[in-house]
Parts: sequence; C-alpha cells; structure tokens
Amino acid sequence: MIINPLEQLVTLLTFIKCHICQMREGPICELCVDVLAADTESRCYICNKLTKQNRVCSGHKSALRRAWWLGAYSGPPKELIAAMKLGRGRAIARSFGRACAGILPYFPPDTLVVPVSTAPQRIRRRGFDQSTLIARSLAAEIGLSAQAALARRSNVDQIGKNRIERIKQMQTTFRTTNLVGGKSILLVDDIITTGATIEAAARCLRDAGAVRVDAVVVARHLLK
Ligand SMILES: [Zn+2]
Ligand SMILES: [Zn+2]
Repeated sequence: MIINPLEQLVTLLTFIKCHICQMREGPICELCVDVLAADTESRCYICNKLTKQNRVCSGHKSALRRAWWLGAYSGPPKELIAAMKLGRGRAIARSFGRACAGILPYFPPDTLVVPVSTAPQRIRRRGFDQSTLIARSLAAEIGLSAQAALARRSNVDQIGKNRIERIKQMQTTFRTTNLVGGKSILLVDDIITTGATIEAAARCLRDAGAVRVDAVVVARHLLK
C-alpha cells in the first residue's frame, strides 16, 4: 500500500503493480477495469438523462449520436489520466483503450476508430499522443481499424470563453485528413469536459460526409 508521496512516485515510475489496487499486475488490472466500467449507466453525456445505448438527446443538436465514458473525472480515473500525461503514459493509454473496449456494444467491422488529435505542441512535449494510443489499443481489442482522420489546425486559447463560444471557435480547429464520406466513426478521447472539443471533431467529420459519429472517452467531467 502507498504510504508517502515518494512511494507513490516510485509506484508510478516503476509500474510493478496495478495503479488502482496496488496488488495485481498493472497499469490497470483486469478486476479494476471491471470496477471502473461498472459505474457506467446509459446516459446522455450532455444532460445526464437516462437514455438507451448512451444516446445523446435529440434536443441538444449534437453532432454525436452516442457517447460512452469509463467513469467520472474523479478518483482513480482522474489520477490515472494525470499519470498518463506524465511518466509511463503509454502503458496507461493502452490499458484505457482495452477498458473502453469493454463497455462498448457491437460495432460493424467497417466502423473507423478515430482519435481526437492532441495539439501538436503537446505531443512534442509529451512524446506521444494519448488519444491515438487509446484509439489504437481500443481498435485492436474489438477488431476495428484506427485511422488518424482528424488533424488540428492550431491550438486555440480557450481561457475565459463560455461553452457556446468555445464550440464556435473549436469548429474551425479540426480538418479531416482521410476520406470519411459515408463512414461510421467512433471518436476516441481522454476527457469530455464542456464537450466543445469532441463536438467540434464530430461536426467536422459529419461535414466531411460521415454518416454517424459515436464517441468513447475515459472520463466525463461534469461541470456543475
Ligand atoms: Zn487493480
Ligand atoms: Zn441530454
């Protein structure tokens, strides 16, 4: 068990044990994956209303049809997301991909798994793109192909803007790099907060002709 911050850091950097239970093989053991996923009721990601198959209510005018998340952005998922962005992030990202695969329904084999690309300067700083790693691991797990069909135009400063302003601004920050016309897409990202980023990504794909866009993320951060 973790006793002090130094031991916590050592656990983080050495990754001998599962990041949550500290007992079984990590970074997230199979039992803890089940615990993370157990909490997922079928709800609309925007208003939290119970819906079938994680559908987004039609009243929101969302570009997403359905959205899944492993858990709330608190406790172990939050710590793991923070750890993923530091230290041994690749292993955690791959675990997240497998865990996400475990909560999804069946997707037809021609569904494209598309990561919401991280801003280039962050990838350079971190050395990897966590959404891409999660997407690849998820796709491999459920037998689909992952494609980097989205790219960011630039990193737009979002500080001090409200949700509507952010969504408006985000719409210009993605472009498609692959042909997505006629395709069904499963978007993958680490966190949903305001939903601005994932909606902008989904809108971009729909505008490029994607017939439907679903999403799965590691954690949903309800702003309330
Ligand atoms: Zn565990
Ligand atoms: Zn709703």
